[in-house]
Amino acid sequence: MITASPAQPLSAVPSASGRYGAFGGVYVPETLVSALVQLEEEYRRARSDPAFSAELDALLATFVGRATPLYHAKRLSAYAAERSGRGQAANIWLKREDLAHTGAHKINNTMGQALLTRRMGKRRIIAETGAGQHGVATATAAAHFGLRCDVYMGAEDVRRQRLNVVRMKLMGANVIAVESGSRTLKDATNEAMRDWMASVEGTHYALGSVVGPHPFPMIVRDFQSVIGRETRRQSVEAFGRLPDAVVACVGGGSNAAGIFYPFVDDAGVRLVGVEAGGRSRKPGDHAAPLSFGTPGILHGSLSYVLQTDDGQTADVHSCSAGLDYPGVGPEHSYWKDAGRVTYTAATDDEALDSFTLLARTEGIIPALETAHAIAEAVRLAGQMPCDRHIVVNCSGRGDKDVDEASRLLGLREAGR
Ligand SMILES: *Cc1c(COP(=O)(O)O)cnc(C)c1O
Repeated sequence: MITASPAQPLSAVPSASGRYGAFGGVYVPETLVSALVQLEEEYRRARSDPAFSAELDALLATFVGRATPLYHAKRLSAYAAERSGRGQAANIWLKREDLAHTGAHKINNTMGQALLTRRMGKRRIIAETGAGQHGVATATAAAHFGLRCDVYMGAEDVRRQRLNVVRMKLMGANVIAVESGSRTLKDATNEAMRDWMASVEGTHYALGSVVGPHPFPMIVRDFQSVIGRETRRQSVEAFGRLPDAVVACVGGGSNAAGIFYPFVDDAGVRLVGVEAGGRSRKPGDHAAPLSFGTPGILHGSLSYVLQTDDGQTADVHSCSAGLDYPGVGPEHSYWKDAGRVTYTAATDDEALDSFTLLARTEGIIPALETAHAIAEAVRLAGQMPCDRHIVVNCSGRGDKDVDEASRLLGLREAGR
């Protein structure tokens, strides 16, 4: 167990060597080390340069559409009260990242990384993508800055996520279908890293979540922390104090880290991360490394990973492509072992129920990823008094998921 001493608040990570307690670090081939060092130096310079922050803030306001609203989901809260069997529940508020440009939180990170790319004098940006959301956000940032853009995507995902492939191409990005391995996100990440090793001179690799070798987990967390900073301010405006609980779904963990990080030193704010519980607790049926995994190395850092007994990365499953990943960011592993954040899992079925629940009670169709967090928020609200406040990170909108959700709902109907 890691314990926080008053001299060392939990927010004081990573260490100079990129560690979050025992987690994180830099486990990469020699050729990438100098690129990572260059990136960290450039990032530290940018962070202390008022011109960088001013340009990023202006872009977030005028291009991304920030600040996103904090919305009181009254009918969802009423539903939670009814279902609780106690006749009351906490107030549920949604942090509306689904209203950000391109429909999810991912753009907060890619605009920041594209600005860094330009500062480093690089003209090309590459990315990995699973469902295509990070690919779209990267292609968007590249178009804005006039950068060349190549996106690696598993061939299986290219087929499943046609709409996002078209969006990326429309914005001038080149989509490279990866035919190796399981032809999904893990394989696309391997290929993007391989490309970067050969092209690092003129190319920046824009990683899409708080994963990978240091300094990526720190950079992505910092760019996404705008979500939590706005939430603090908006909570005080809306209900006069900080929230009692903050809930977010966890794939790689970037939307969760972004909303949690500005609250980690506030002991009175309960933080809950929700992983993909999939079909069952059996290996291969879920994508919940913090709930069921063990520490191991994946994509350049040490963190909880779903792996077989002989250390091979395990197969994973989730109804939502954005949570379908066997690893998780090292800072989440740190928060888990420190007991600061509680990690739970919502199943495919619970996510599907919450997908329709939010649509019907509030007129908001969430991403299937986000629906996992909604499920946990309704459960948690039902255990709390009605003068309490829960903020859920509404990480993205569900337009991309309507075909898959209606297919799954149809299957369920047929099974009844
Ligand atoms: C990509 C994505 C996620 C999962 O990624 P994190 O890095 O865990 O945030 C969650 N929600 C939406 C809408 C996404 O697009």
